[in-house]
Amino acid sequence: MPLETLTSTAGVAIRTELPGPEASRILELDHRYVSPSYTRSYPLVARSGQGALVEDVDGNRFLDFSAGIAVVATGHCHPRVVAAVQQQAARLIHMSGSDFYYENQTVLAKKLSDIAPGDHDCKVFFCNSGAEAIEAAIKLARYHTGRKRLIAFTGSFHGRTLGALSLTASKPVQRRGFGPLVPGIVHTAYPNPYRCPENLTPQQHAVECARAIENHLFKTVAPRDEVAAIVVEAVQGEGGYIVPPPEFLRELRRIADESGALLILDEVQTGMGRTGKMWASEHSGVVPDIIASAKGIASGMPLGATIARADIMDWPPGAHGSTFGGNPVSIAAALATIELLETSLIENSAEVGRHILARIQDWPARYPMVGEVRGLGLMIGIEIVADAAQKKPAPRLRDRIVEACFHRGLLLLGCGESTIRVSPPLIITREQADFAMEVLESVLRSVSAAD
Ligand code: PLP
Repeated sequence: MPLETLTSTAGVAIRTELPGPEASRILELDHRYVSPSYTRSYPLVARSGQGALVEDVDGNRFLDFSAGIAVVATGHCHPRVVAAVQQQAARLIHMSGSDFYYENQTVLAKKLSDIAPGDHDCKVFFCNSGAEAIEAAIKLARYHTGRKRLIAFTGSFHGRTLGALSLTASKPVQRRGFGPLVPGIVHTAYPNPYRCPENLTPQQHAVECARAIENHLFKTVAPRDEVAAIVVEAVQGEGGYIVPPPEFLRELRRIADESGALLILDEVQTGMGRTGKMWASEHSGVVPDIIASAKGIASGMPLGATIARADIMDWPPGAHGSTFGGNPVSIAAALATIELLETSLIENSAEVGRHILARIQDWPARYPMVGEVRGLGLMIGIEIVADAAQKKPAPRLRDRIVEACFHRGLLLLGCGESTIRVSPPLIITREQADFAMEVLESVLRSVSAAD
């Protein structure tokens, strides 16, 4: 089918120059009054969203394969989520779960305990964001173990508040000028199957990366009896949608158990069905001690959750809290979201994700600038390289591709040094996925022809 026909079938419509006149007006105001620290890849000024479509202020309609940075799990403004938010907002918007009780916070805590990996009970600390969920995990790990050191991984992203930033090791701009950071944190390499040393299989490489903790860190900068926790993403998100072999997490679990450290899984981006299972750690069968969750948990309402084994969450009243954390409206959105995930969306994420990967798996053979395609569920990365043999990252080429897709009505984001991330809402259909891959492929073709 020609792209124009597909475009109208998918509901995508580009009617103005981009940015259009209204968008240009708002961009001017934004440049004048909004923090310049935000990283906008292209000038999308959103007005409304429905399902996987976003309309801008000039009436242009885009297919959203970014999901607002992997957040709107159930799509934009899912009617069930909107109804839950409206009903809750009409009844009770705020009371502060730090100082008072309300039922839906308890109901969500029990639900998260039930769906967390493992048979044990969990307790939940509620907050407003991924970074806050990580802050709580750091504090809880130090408090519970009485130890002060933390181990994290290069390429990881855990947020931008000072504690979370001290774990983050993604891009220099995120740290430059902000030190000194929280002491006691060391980083070691995260396994990358695409850039695995030639003499090792990806599985061996993954095990070696994990064992570097025992073989190097414990023997040098992080004495084993001082390590409170190992903090890790089950799939590296902002670092480039890098999927390690399952042996990696299994080995980390063993090392944590043997050294008395806790295993903290940052499932902020990977969680809530994104990888085709509720939690990405389920792909390896590893049961973490603490999970940090946010992003997709409430379909776009601000909510973070630190979910810990009940015996670990042993801090006393006053040790940690949050005025807004676990806000009743966000909680209502989360309960509606989880119901939709369990009913069909996790399955859809797995199925449509497999469909996309099968469709694009031969791109590295067909397009010299595609180094690798990889992913789990609807967390798919397409790595763009300048030279397939050298695997040299090509960030500017990646950015041009993402921008060209925007002009054709497809919203994507980059991640890592030169990867395109495919992270649509979990409601997308095969047809929408086909349309998106058609657009992306047409851009790859035109870029190949131009170079
Ligand atoms: N952890 C991971 C894995 C993330 O991807 C992010 C955000 O991208 C965060 C933590 C921080 O979340 P937030 O931006 O909600 O603070």
